Amino acid sequence: MNPSTPQRLQSIRGMNDILPPEAARWARLEAIAADCLRRYGYQPIRLPVVEPTPLFTRAIGAVTDIVEKEMYSFVDSLNGDELTLRPEGTAGCARAVIQHGLANQSAQRLYYMGPMFRHERPQKGRYRQFHQIGVEAFGLPGPDVDAELILLTRRLWRELGLADIRLQINSLGQPEERARHRADLIAYLEGFSARLDADAQRRLHSNPLRILDSKNPEMQDICAKAPKLLDYLGAESLAHFADLQRILRDADIDFVINPRLVRGLDYYNHGVFEWVTDNLGAQSAVCAGGRYDGLVAQLGGKPTPACGFALGVERLMALIAAHDGANAPLPPDVYLAHQGGKASRLAFDVAEKLRDAGMDARLHCGGGSFKAQMKKADSLGAAFAVIIGDDEAASGEVQLKSLRDETFGQRRMRADALSGFILDHFFNNSDTGRNNRHGGI
Ligand code: ATP
Ligand code: MG
Repeated sequence: MNPSTPQRLQSIRGMNDILPPEAARWARLEAIAADCLRRYGYQPIRLPVVEPTPLFTRAIGAVTDIVEKEMYSFVDSLNGDELTLRPEGTAGCARAVIQHGLANQSAQRLYYMGPMFRHERPQKGRYRQFHQIGVEAFGLPGPDVDAELILLTRRLWRELGLADIRLQINSLGQPEERARHRADLIAYLEGFSARLDADAQRRLHSNPLRILDSKNPEMQDICAKAPKLLDYLGAESLAHFADLQRILRDADIDFVINPRLVRGLDYYNHGVFEWVTDNLGAQSAVCAGGRYDGLVAQLGGKPTPACGFALGVERLMALIAAHDGANAPLPPDVYLAHQGGKASRLAFDVAEKLRDAGMDARLHCGGGSFKAQMKKADSLGAAFAVIIGDDEAASGEVQLKSLRDETFGQRRMRADALSGFILDHFFNNSDTGRNNRHGGI
């Protein structure tokens, strides 16, 4: 590169800026989710984005896609520590629960929201920095809490106005049951060794269950006829799974059992689930979760039953059709135009009072003529302009002008009566009031 041309600085491929007004839609989604979670007793937890690499290799399993090829791992050049940008949240959450003894006294219902990092090929619905809302319950053996998590997600879809999301469930049983199934599955697949694709060849002895999840059309008939894990479950696992299904039926939740639903991560057992949609092309999974009773002990904690799910925020946002106007920035309630030193001081004061009363008060910044300031107020779609010149300011007064109702005209009033006047006359009992402006997402 020519040393005289400054390098163009750009975000990293697959790591996106979320710009306004899209970012405001994200914030509303997060607020709706947080409110939903609160009603089920889940508490927020905030966790580091970087963790020691061994946490993930131990928690997720060395022969998974994530650990094999998707992790951003590096050596901290300042001290030699081996670190990884978190590819998912469950491992870090379990680490925190162990480290702080959270589950020693009582069950913990926790959630977090934030970025995750995976070195995948960027495409629609698949990014290198993406965001999850993760929900975990520690200390409860289920299946009641498993069902509760599914009810919670159904409520969230409803409150977001999403209809076309389907639930698939499966049971991965217990480790001994998986071991017996695994032996039979390997023997079965070896019978087709010439027809297995490269991925399947590679996973045959390391992670054969994952082969069943293959998206390769040529592998479909082999996978469809493979031994089903469900046939290997003992009485206890079957009862756990049957109870989960009963609670879902009682709650009127439609689901299908997908015997080929496996999780990409090693730590799952018993019930697993996925919410999928046909509206996102190949990236169809919106939310995935299940039980992971072995994880806490595997990470050195006291054996603690646990289950959880993670939903992909980008995929969810792609599903939520932007309602009319939701992409336009919200107009201010009041635009304050002012000119002169005294007027400017009063404008600052009045704007703060309007904000105290809950209004979006946009104070004109940068000077200019009243005409130019009023043009700005109009172009933003403000409901009112408050006009203050030094003349008004000298007597502690302002001019209030409605930009939407011509019959109102322009009225002079005391500055300290302004916010009460606007609230009484325009926002109470008005169906275009402030509180209704933020509906939709
Ligand atoms: P997929 O099969 O799509 O690769 P996964 O099994 O790797 O998904 P999980 O680890 O279960 O996904 O993560 C839970 C959710 O996070 C997914 O259902 C999806 O909505 C979202 N997700 C996973 N990876 C990405 C990514 N690279 N970009 C955007 N969202 C993602
Ligand atoms: Mg993946």
